[in-house]
Amino acid sequence: MITCLAGGVGAARLLEGLDKIVDEHGEELTVIVNTGDDEEFFGLHVSPDIDIITYTLAGIVERERGWGIRGDTFACLDMLARLGCETWFKLGDRDMAIHIYRTWRLRDGATLSQVTAEIAAKLGVRHKIIPMSDDPVKTHIKTPAGLLPFQRYFVERGASDEVLDVVYVGSDRARPASGVIESILGAEGVIICPSNPIVSIGTILAVPGVREALRKTSGKVLAISPIIGGATVKGPADRMMRGLGIEVSAAGVAELYKDFLNIYVMDAQDAELREKVQSMGVDVHITNTLMRSLEDKKRLAQTCLELLGL
Ligand code: GDP
Ligand code: CA
Repeated sequence: MITCLAGGVGAARLLEGLDKIVDEHGEELTVIVNTGDDEEFFGLHVSPDIDIITYTLAGIVERERGWGIRGDTFACLDMLARLGCETWFKLGDRDMAIHIYRTWRLRDGATLSQVTAEIAAKLGVRHKIIPMSDDPVKTHIKTPAGLLPFQRYFVERGASDEVLDVVYVGSDRARPASGVIESILGAEGVIICPSNPIVSIGTILAVPGVREALRKTSGKVLAISPIIGGATVKGPADRMMRGLGIEVSAAGVAELYKDFLNIYVMDAQDAELREKVQSMGVDVHITNTLMRSLEDKKRLAQTCLELLGL
């Protein structure tokens, strides 16, 4: 078993590649997903990162955007707009059905893990997708305009505010969902996807017990840098790191993971950081890490499995 820690779009790129090649290696994937971005819209429980990963592994994701369902329409949201509702968070009609189902099942007493597994199975996902916790954890961004829930900062305001701090509300009381710790401890290899190190991976690491499990697991832990040449491919990770006083580089991300990291995959553009990361006691592998085509995704996934000896 290979266990992956994942946020949304960045993680999904690698996971699509892994999905295509793990069979040949006789391996199964377990994906532990960030839920700090979860938000309620129109009374519905929306789990953006779980949905991105589920739609990607089900082969129905809208490829250009990296989120939502391919070919989806927005009639429901249009009508909500006519009713005067805020519609800055784009929810497609088919996507909306997923949120209705999730909310309905949660009200029935199901856990988020159970609903996530049900949706994945019904959409034909062959891998295990587990939310990091069934307990609510809410990522809030402290900005000069005040403390903003993550989606308000990220989507409504376009990540334009200066980041003063990031708070994971509820993380101290959150319990890892069933299977989270077990899948890390029992993994032959762990992959930290190229996701935002603060608000995707950082949130998962803030769940009590996860970091310890990563330190303890006998499987090797590998991470792919989401920072290439001192900047993000997409998203606000670089600005967030700067705001938090973290070096904005592939080495800065390695610093956040070094207590549990065995292997670090960095982009060829960052080759000069090799020694700096090696001095943290981490093995470094340098390759092209930008995933544009399916071939790029499969190649990087293959490299990861080889580095893990799988
Ligand atoms: P989100 O939850 O949808 O914001 O996505 P993630 O947290 O999973 O991923 C965001 C991170 O993925 C950003 O820091 C990007 O720089 C990184 N990323 C996106 N695409 C790529 C890629 O092709 N290669 C690498 N190395 N990083 C990527
Ligand atoms: Ca996210």
